[in-house]
Amino acid sequence: MDKRTVLVLGGGVGGLVAASVLRRELAPEDRVVLVERASKHTFWPSLLWLMSGSRKAEQVQRDLEPLARRGIEVRHGEITEIDPERRRVVVGGEELTGDALVVSLGADLVPERVPGLAETGGNFYTVDGAKQVYDQASSLQAGRVAVVVADVPFKCPAAPYEAAMLLEGLLRRRKVRDQVTVTVYAAEPAPMGVAGPEVSRGVVELVRQRGIEYCPSTKLTRVDASGKRLYFDTGAEAEFDVLAVVPPHAAPEAVRNSPLAGPNGWIPMDPATCETRFENVFAIGDVTTVPLKLGKPLPKAGVFAHGQAEAVAHTLAARLRGRGKEQKFDGHGECFIEMGGGAAGFARGNFYAEPAPQVQMYRAGRHWHAAKVAFERNWWRTWF
Ligand SMILES: Cc1cc2nc3c(=O)[nH]c(=O)nc-3n(C[C@H](O)[C@H](O)[C@H](O)COP(=O)(O)OP(=O)(O)OC[C@H]3O[C@@H](n4cnc5c(N)ncnc54)[C@H](O)[C@@H]3O)c2cc1C
Repeated sequence: MDKRTVLVLGGGVGGLVAASVLRRELAPEDRVVLVERASKHTFWPSLLWLMSGSRKAEQVQRDLEPLARRGIEVRHGEITEIDPERRRVVVGGEELTGDALVVSLGADLVPERVPGLAETGGNFYTVDGAKQVYDQASSLQAGRVAVVVADVPFKCPAAPYEAAMLLEGLLRRRKVRDQVTVTVYAAEPAPMGVAGPEVSRGVVELVRQRGIEYCPSTKLTRVDASGKRLYFDTGAEAEFDVLAVVPPHAAPEAVRNSPLAGPNGWIPMDPATCETRFENVFAIGDVTTVPLKLGKPLPKAGVFAHGQAEAVAHTLAARLRGRGKEQKFDGHGECFIEMGGGAAGFARGNFYAEPAPQVQMYRAGRHWHAAKVAFERNWWRTWF
């Protein structure tokens, strides 16, 4: 039988899982090529613990080289062109062609879209930014901590609320909480809105119970880095001493410039098969847009990228090798909500349910935090 090649674009959550399952399911002579610009894989959920002092940078990232030892060809470089018709990409000036493409290029962070934001820093969606927030919050004696969601959409709907609660916990541990205000300014009308009003209310309650002020529907328009001042579309202004920010997101440039992009830059695909309008070209994870019946898109979250990656890898093994059956992604997902003090909440449900997602929030406790720690340990054990 002919040798087949699958190009997996992106070595983040979706790409790592897709490449690993494909390697297991395809024939040994088939090639699985993983293309990634970063030298390391980052386990993004751990950035919240890096930001609150319970992880070091070296604990949240790993080299991709162990994948090469398992027969996945790792190609480091920037993808600058994607031609889905020919299943061809350009990486660092060199062309690669495959029998199938799995596009899992995530979302680019674009702080430069808000004047003054890039100069201010505090972007805890990067390793350096999370470390910076920790350094500032761990020496603050009095003042204001601002957690800001600059714009929508953004990945991990729970992350800014977790960040606020973890920073609040850090200030309490340091016995300076009474001298510091913590405020969340969010561009969205309610936390985790796609999961439904019960989950939104639950998260607002968790935040307010900790004395954290919550300002929804407040979009960041400008930051004065030297004056430490935030400006919002509502006309409101706020001062800060420590800023922890979720910057605006955009579809990666190579995707925006390709025929895969929909009108807003993200990739539309079949919500169940994850196949794009091009045969054997699949898109998964944050780079996609999946409209739901309630009028909002499926949230950008690792749990969905992971589920979609498994489904696509099985489908490709069935198509290219006749092994097993094609699989569909069913819209189920779950999420831990870190609250500080070694406790967490948990929500789980079916996001493809109609007319609206059916998501249940479980009683918070220490066991959910322990489950998230176990999930992190299993991530490294399973994929590296
Ligand atoms: C602080 C934080 C906490 C989070 N917590 C959770 C959580 O608890 N639960 C959850 O479900 N989700 C969580 N998420 C969200 C989750 O990490 C993302 O939804 C998930 O990583 C999406 O996977 P992906 O494969 O689509 O994209 P990514 O994991 O972002 O991977 C995309 C990859 O593509 C690479 N890439 C992009 N463009 C190019 C290019 N041109 N050339 C080469 N390579 C390129 C990138 O370097 C990256 O490695 C969190 C995110 C953050 C930031």
